[in-house]
Amino acid sequence: MAYGLTMKMKDFNTSSVDRRSWLKSAGLVSAASFLSGTHAAAAGEKKTPTKKVRGVVFMISDGMSPGVLSLAEAYSQLTRQRTTQWWQLLNNPTATRGLMDNASANSLVTDSAAASSAWGGGQRVNNGSINVKPDGKEITPIAALLRKKNAAIGLVTTATVTHATPAGFAASISSRSDEQLIAPQYLDRVDIILGGGSGYFDAKQRSDQQDLAGDFKKSGYEVVSDRDQLLAAKSAKILGTFARGHLPFSIDRNHDAALAASVPSLAEMTQAALGRFLTGDKPFLLQVEGARIDHAAHLNDIGALLGDQIAFDDAVAAVLTMTAKHGDILVVVTSDHGNSNPGLNGMGDGYKESNQHFQNIARFKASHERVFGEWNAKPNGDAETIGSLVAEHLGFDLKKSEAEALIAILHKENVVEWNHQLEKPEGLLGQFAGNHTGIGWTGTTHTSDPTLLSAIGPQSSRFSGIIRNSDVFGHLMELLG
Ligand SMILES: [Zn+2]
Repeated sequence: MAYGLTMKMKDFNTSSVDRRSWLKSAGLVSAASFLSGTHAAAAGEKKTPTKKVRGVVFMISDGMSPGVLSLAEAYSQLTRQRTTQWWQLLNNPTATRGLMDNASANSLVTDSAAASSAWGGGQRVNNGSINVKPDGKEITPIAALLRKKNAAIGLVTTATVTHATPAGFAASISSRSDEQLIAPQYLDRVDIILGGGSGYFDAKQRSDQQDLAGDFKKSGYEVVSDRDQLLAAKSAKILGTFARGHLPFSIDRNHDAALAASVPSLAEMTQAALGRFLTGDKPFLLQVEGARIDHAAHLNDIGALLGDQIAFDDAVAAVLTMTAKHGDILVVVTSDHGNSNPGLNGMGDGYKESNQHFQNIARFKASHERVFGEWNAKPNGDAETIGSLVAEHLGFDLKKSEAEALIAILHKENVVEWNHQLEKPEGLLGQFAGNHTGIGWTGTTHTSDPTLLSAIGPQSSRFSGIIRNSDVFGHLMELLG
């Protein structure tokens, strides 16, 4: 799917921002310790776990193929001279390791709707459905069950808050695309809702003209729409939507001071939710999703993918730091499925050019989504135009024949592509970019690979070994219900 190619240009602007400024403003960890990497020890300092679990933070890098872990580690070392939290977790003897088996009811290759339903409803459903069985019967999602046990529920994502992965924990609907019908299901079922998708709560943008944001307000939610409002919010219940659609890719946010000032990072949203849940003694379930790793993989966009994987890792760092002194919080980090399986190829004689190619990723200054968006906005987008946009934003030159092939495929003309997965502009651009970055892709869709799984905290041994996705629900209910 050509995710986001039609996104509104207001979501993209340019200039530069310090991605770490959230730490200083949040005051939860000193920026100095974060920059020096000493926070990486947070996981190792975790208080001896009790058996009792009060809260679970379930973190998902959506569409993260297993190979992304090592690419993100290399990219983090390259661009910020320090390790990633997930890499550290794998090296931490108190954390467990495993693989998540993610098939859906009707395919070895799951989509996010079926994958999240397995976690949040305990049964495998067909791709495209959210907690609705193949026979049409609805499954009650975990958020509704845990509410009855007085637990607090949070959904934090960089996609629309009504997107498949958050919805799998808190909604039941036969088609994931009915986001307008998912939004009202969160009312009084989910305490903290943070991400994109303001349109689904806005009377002017809903086809039924229901003032859903107004309904949330009446029910005691603080309704916020930008970063400052979120950081200043005082209420226990929050509905925060910071874009009409998905939140911008981190690579675009990080190069745009205005965007970074108005849209919170995944780590900031996570801190806002977890900070509230850690106060008091209520049980809680917080789902945190780095959603756009999946979208970047569909777009074969390694710069956007690694930018969002690093933003996800910052959220993992924030969670491990905040829970380090709490012995009763379980943190699970995983993914719902692979996607396009990016990997670094051996480049040049004796592979001596691989590192140099990989370093070219750091020259990317925008997402492919933005490249295509700008091309789309030009009245006469020809081969020269796409060539100059690629040079400006991605830092490499397309050959004339490559630019012409890209234009032909953008104009939906038949071109010779050797793999049907590539008969899309994003697939073709991903291949051309790979000549400069060394990154190869299996295609532009989800893959069947089991995903990585790490857990730390009480009862984390439940998440070691090979875990069937639909067994997660039972563990969460036993721990929190
Ligand atoms: Zn996807």
